[in-house]
Amino acid sequence: MNIDLSRRSFLKLFGAGAAATSLGAMGFGAAEAAVAAHVRQFKLAATTETRNICTYCSVACGIIMYSKGDLNAGEKAELIHIEGDADHPTNRGTLCPKGAALKDYVKAETRLTKPRYRAPGADQFQEITWDEALDKIARALKDDRDANLIEKNAAGTTVNRWTSTGFLAASATTNETAWLTYKTVRSMGIVGFDNQARV
Ligand code: SF4
Repeated sequence: MNIDLSRRSFLKLFGAGAAATSLGAMGFGAAEAAVAAHVRQFKLAATTETRNICTYCSVACGIIMYSKGDLNAGEKAELIHIEGDADHPTNRGTLCPKGAALKDYVKAETRLTKPRYRAPGADQFQEITWDEALDKIARALKDDRDANLIEKNAAGTTVNRWTSTGFLAASATTNETAWLTYKTVRSMGIVGFDNQARV
């Protein structure tokens, strides 16, 4: 009989079995081992799983975020656990120490969760909304491009180069997102374009 199990389901099933077997080898009885094997299941039983990608480095390992409440539903959700995604082709469930500590990073009191803006001449940052931040960025990009776009080179050939603004893209994305980012940046004429993977 074929059993159709994903890699993660396989690890869940046989991980529980291995825990019970190990406890048995340490002298615990079958009842204690059986209870211990189910503790991890109970910890995550009422949680919502959200797949994501570790943003620390360009390896872009797959992660699963477990929360009470749905992180994607806009409701107030509490993140309680993060682990490597065993079905992700990049990391197959593993995480390096930085990725393994992601939950602490997400919940750190010092983590910035809102954009901040320092006005010209000011010595303090002030919190602004995401809409305000995006408006400021769009305004600054438009003004700079209008002022500095090089439409033709010395020979009169159309080049549409925008050399006074650069763009640094994230590497923890899919191929499709990277492709769209590249097209967007190049279509505006930006020449200085690089990726976190090379930094
Ligand atoms: S888990 Fe480690 S190796 Fe993987 S993306 Fe995060 S920092 Fe990079």
